[in-house]
Amino acid sequence: MLNLLMQSDFKNNASNTDLKKFRQQSFIIEYLYRNGQASNPELAKLVNMSSPTINKLIVELVELEIVQELGQGASIGGRRPNLYGINPNAKYIISIDIDCRMIKMGVFNLQNVAVSDIITYFDNIKNKKQVFEEIFNRLDSLLAHLNYKTSQFLGIGISLPGLIEAKTGKTYSDLLIDDLSLEEVFRNRYHLPVFTGNDSRVMALGEQAFGAARNKKDVLCINICDGIGMGIIVNGKIYEGKSGFAGELGHINVVDDGILCTCGKKGCLETVASGTAIIQQAKDGIASGKQSIISELVNDNLEDIHVSTIIEALGNGDVFAIDLISQAGAYLGKGIAGLIHIFNPETVIIGGKVSEAKHFLLDPIQQSMNKYSIHRIKQDTEIITSSLEGKVKLLGNVAMVMNTLFEQEREFFT
Ligand SMILES: [Zn+2]
Repeated sequence: MLNLLMQSDFKNNASNTDLKKFRQQSFIIEYLYRNGQASNPELAKLVNMSSPTINKLIVELVELEIVQELGQGASIGGRRPNLYGINPNAKYIISIDIDCRMIKMGVFNLQNVAVSDIITYFDNIKNKKQVFEEIFNRLDSLLAHLNYKTSQFLGIGISLPGLIEAKTGKTYSDLLIDDLSLEEVFRNRYHLPVFTGNDSRVMALGEQAFGAARNKKDVLCINICDGIGMGIIVNGKIYEGKSGFAGELGHINVVDDGILCTCGKKGCLETVASGTAIIQQAKDGIASGKQSIISELVNDNLEDIHVSTIIEALGNGDVFAIDLISQAGAYLGKGIAGLIHIFNPETVIIGGKVSEAKHFLLDPIQQSMNKYSIHRIKQDTEIITSSLEGKVKLLGNVAMVMNTLFEQEREFFT
């Protein structure tokens, strides 16, 4: 929130008294952003200050239009206290969710609500140069429509599949454009701070801030898309591993001497339970004579089979589609059984496109876990699908931008 409060020459010119004041105001802003609202006595208690002093700080923030008055709260004896909240439109965040096949983008305010249309379209990130030109075109027109000044934006959050070094945002998924990193390309074009995150980890951030992982300490978020990734929340924090690559669940071995995986190894979970694997199994099955409504849904053009086709077939009670998802679920259950023995999580959230199969996927996962896990540990863990569905990564990007900025500010002040 350096960006909320301060101008760029702040660091050189601020006196110690100013620094102390800004630190307290920064704390107030973060508290209001995360908790929605608070009264002045509550805030005074939080920063350990007298009511008149905190009032002065709040009045300043109201004048800066960062904080707004929300009327009066209930009396706890004596005068009714004033309530304050963040001004939702003080600043905005741009969020871009790059998936293997689908790209989404939108602009969110400080109440984490979209203030623009959410743009969703299909593209294939393998054609990287065109993909980014298309993203720029669409984002430019989205921003032109909103007509906000650059200074009204806090930053851009981008989620994408593949290995991303958490600390540097450096990507390893062949996404360099003209020798520049993704972050550099966006920063040069929009003159804003840019933060990138691995899609599964961003999913976990979204669930943690706004979804089923809220107020929970130990949660695994499994993202089943073209590949299979995992965001890990341990003791309330996202676990990244030494280089930020933790959670490559798709590459644990589940089949002895199985199919060759994109990683070069054989029998990885991804080769039997990812969206890519399920689509391939559907194509192979139908080509070898399996009867299924899937053929009808794609007019016998097997190249048109997507995960959404298989999910549509499930809805029609198609036995072949049910078998495909059951088999994937059985392998996933085996993998998850291993995980819960290690992590003992409170909740496992299954997200990503394949999770739209809902109970068709969850039931075989549960059955397989009954087979492969110790009952006492499994009992502790609920397994659910994401409640945020298609919006989880867009919201996760907002959380990523806000968490990083608040963190940077805390570091600056200590
Ligand atoms: Zn692999």
